[in-house]
Amino acid sequence: MSIKDLRVNGKRLQESLEAMGKIGATPGGGVQRLALSDEDKEARDLFCSWLKEIDCEVTIDEMGNIFGRRPGKNRDLPVVMSGSHVDSQPKGGRFDGILGVMGPLEVLRTLHENNVETERDIVIVDWTNEEGSRFAPAMVSSGVWVGKLELDWAYNRTDINGKTQGEELERIGYKGDAPAKAFPIHANYELHIEQGPMLEAEGKTIGAPKGVLCLHWYDIYLTGTANQVGPTPMAGRNDCLLAAAEMIQTVNKVAHIKGDMVATVGELHNYPNSRNIIPDGVHFTVDIRSWEDEHALGAWDLMETEFQTIADRHGTPIKMETTWRVERAPFNDALVNNVLDASEELGYSSLYMVSGAGHDCSYINQIAPAAMIFVPSKGGRSHVEVEESSWDDCEKGANVLLQCMLKSANEV
Ligand SMILES: [Zn+2]
Repeated sequence: MSIKDLRVNGKRLQESLEAMGKIGATPGGGVQRLALSDEDKEARDLFCSWLKEIDCEVTIDEMGNIFGRRPGKNRDLPVVMSGSHVDSQPKGGRFDGILGVMGPLEVLRTLHENNVETERDIVIVDWTNEEGSRFAPAMVSSGVWVGKLELDWAYNRTDINGKTQGEELERIGYKGDAPAKAFPIHANYELHIEQGPMLEAEGKTIGAPKGVLCLHWYDIYLTGTANQVGPTPMAGRNDCLLAAAEMIQTVNKVAHIKGDMVATVGELHNYPNSRNIIPDGVHFTVDIRSWEDEHALGAWDLMETEFQTIADRHGTPIKMETTWRVERAPFNDALVNNVLDASEELGYSSLYMVSGAGHDCSYINQIAPAAMIFVPSKGGRSHVEVEESSWDDCEKGANVLLQCMLKSANEV
């Protein structure tokens, strides 16, 4: 049999996902498997036992990243890698992250049972704490691994109970000895649910993102005049919350008018937040994402000008800060083409698109050729208990991953 005819076992992939879905299962049909919790440990133990069943070399590094390595013929060549995360959001879904760990596991099981030899080693990985919901920030361990974040800094991140990430790694027995330091990678693929509605809307099965959108964060602070609401006439008030409300409308209006972008006010703090005091302080955030950095900056220019006008009209002095800017991250063209080609050869429809969210792959992409494979999310929902992708689509995504990994792993 030609390796082009190899297919994953969809039923086995489903069973693995279902077994993982039981660990931290929530009554609403999702999972809660916070990073370095007992549930995370249980999922890790199961993953490691499955890796050993197919004779993979299992390594745990200082950040608790779990690597399963299947030797190739030429062990000196840079490896082909695939992985994602087994941790979840609080009351998260059963597919985010775990599909990108069970998918490559199914690929390795398929290679194992068919005695397929590859030129290069294949490594699959569970990245510790991708979600960043228990210990901020997100994608911390892939960030340390590629050298963008400091190990000690990562160890010292605390959860709401004051426990550090380093202590919790030790507690669950996953503070490994291997250095959390990148080794040479020939190609990295991450299989993931889309977490948005595009594939479903377009009726396509496989998404091949050309990269991750740029991300620009701003913080806005308004100062007004507090007063008793009853005796203070409407005319002449300096109401911060009212000014902020107009600004939130502006953010949405600008995004609609400019198009090809999303802009969101997701966080708002109102002071003193009392029903009988006119608000004299508001802090809110603006998140702007687009494929073109210039386009996003142009949108911010418009918002900034209009925010100032609104603040002047209400007599609420404004302070605007640029908190964080990440440029867009294009994936490797050749690997993205591998995803599109494999989809076509397998007879699956595909969509060349963008990723609105960051993933571990975003960090790996900074040091090695990388690409992602998306499968549809029902209703575009994610980070919620009802998050769902069809078993059939998961299987198809894993078949695309299989063909991409085989192609890259046999390149010498
Ligand atoms: Zn994820």
